[in-house]
Amino acid sequence: MKSVLEQLERTAARFADKTAVDDGEVSYSWQELLELSKRVGSALTKPGREGKPVAVVMDKRADTLAAFFGIVYAGGFYVLVNPEYPNVRIEKILETLQTDTVVLDPKYEDKIRACGYAGEVLEIDAAKAHELREDVLSDIRARAMDQDILYGIFTSGSTGVPKGVIVSHRAVIDFIGYFTELFGFSEEDVIGNQAPLDFDVSVKDIYSSIFTGAKLVLIPKHMFSMPPALLDFLCEKRVTSLTWAVSALCIVTTLRGFEYRIPSDVKRVLFSGEVMPYKHLQAWREALPGAEFVNLYGPTEITCNCTYYRVRGDEAPDTALPVGRAFPNRRVFLLDEEDHEVTKPGESGEICVAGNSLAAGYYNNAEETEKSFVQNPGNRSYPERIYRTGDNGYWRKDGALCFLGRRDFQIKRMGHRIELEEIQLTIEKAEGVARACCIYGEAENKLVAFYAGTADKKTIRRDIKEQMPGFMMPDKFFRVEEMPLTKNGKIDRTALWSRYKEEKKR
Ligand code: AMP
Repeated sequence: MKSVLEQLERTAARFADKTAVDDGEVSYSWQELLELSKRVGSALTKPGREGKPVAVVMDKRADTLAAFFGIVYAGGFYVLVNPEYPNVRIEKILETLQTDTVVLDPKYEDKIRACGYAGEVLEIDAAKAHELREDVLSDIRARAMDQDILYGIFTSGSTGVPKGVIVSHRAVIDFIGYFTELFGFSEEDVIGNQAPLDFDVSVKDIYSSIFTGAKLVLIPKHMFSMPPALLDFLCEKRVTSLTWAVSALCIVTTLRGFEYRIPSDVKRVLFSGEVMPYKHLQAWREALPGAEFVNLYGPTEITCNCTYYRVRGDEAPDTALPVGRAFPNRRVFLLDEEDHEVTKPGESGEICVAGNSLAAGYYNNAEETEKSFVQNPGNRSYPERIYRTGDNGYWRKDGALCFLGRRDFQIKRMGHRIELEEIQLTIEKAEGVARACCIYGEAENKLVAFYAGTADKKTIRRDIKEQMPGFMMPDKFFRVEEMPLTKNGKIDRTALWSRYKEEKKR
């Protein structure tokens, strides 16, 4: 298979009238989704489109999938730009993409224009009604290769600019094939999508559905702050499978959702993104005793996940769940400080990944790509690309990989991946700030921004709010006379955190 569209067409032929996607308001059968995608594709074809990104500025809804596949039919790749992001961030993303076409909900046209975008916009409703041009689409398909890029997803970047991870058809075809097979997805499944469509967790939902004919139910975002509505929705839609971020599963248990209702059709709960806290996992397992629970691990750059661990039920409450073993056709290994492979159980090293499913790199960002996607240092005989995850891990005696934390200042907050340097650089740009340093206290779940300078907290807060999404906003701003430094001249983060804790005690 060269293109995911082949799979979409096969599934549409097999399950033509069966529901493909349902967003709570609109639902499309496989045949309808296919036809709408082709119409959008027909509206988008033009010379020079192939291999280029097209931005999608839409909410999470059934039509967004038609926009995605339409872009692919036209030979391009899709990048969902979250309309809730502040303008400055959207500007940075569009600047990186250099796209000349945006597919959008008309309500977002003013927003995108305010971000300085001057190119063509295509309203989704007009695109859906466009004349079908099968001949042009099939010419484009004849030129397709499995290495072509399918989508791009932006993540936080330590240089202050978000990085656009670009992923090929091959990477998705390879990964989703094994993923759906290992966990037994079928056309009888109803996949309850939690993740926003600019998160790679949603890639598993979309393509598990396309590869098996399972129904995809897009759960409206607002339900994740109201467990009763969420649980009613899961029950009403008879959802059988959840592939969710750890943070989303924890919302249900923290807000005691299961005291209200249990979504008893759910038979599979796959989670990723962070270490799953034991007591939340237990609460889910007690609510759904017949379901399978699986811990999935991996960064966006390796396409969704590279390892998995099936929960057995005898795991110790006081140790983190292992992330398990590699998916087929992936090689996951550890490298020590000298780039030697670590194979001895218990010894730590950086988690590295090789295989077909690595992302192609960061779009228009050769420097960052070269830093993380590198030649395997253990192979001097032929080119072999690996991705260095920046995560530390160790092997357990039974061969299961365990996650130990980050080697840098990347954190997870409310399920979002954040490079603390990006926040620091944004704060340092504010007037009256000389230096800034952000620290995330995991135990306290507090993101604290320390700064030296004359600026007042309110002004900084207001300034950076226009530049960063809400999930990156520090909980506290803490002014210091000057930044404490270590012997090597680096900001002394331990000293800063102690000061913060002392201050809190007062
Ligand atoms: P993202 O690219 O947003 O999926 O974030 C990837 C990062 O999240 C990884 O590099 C890890 O640091 C962390 N992560 C992902 N899955 C897990 C997991 N199952 N357990 C612990 N950390 C995880």
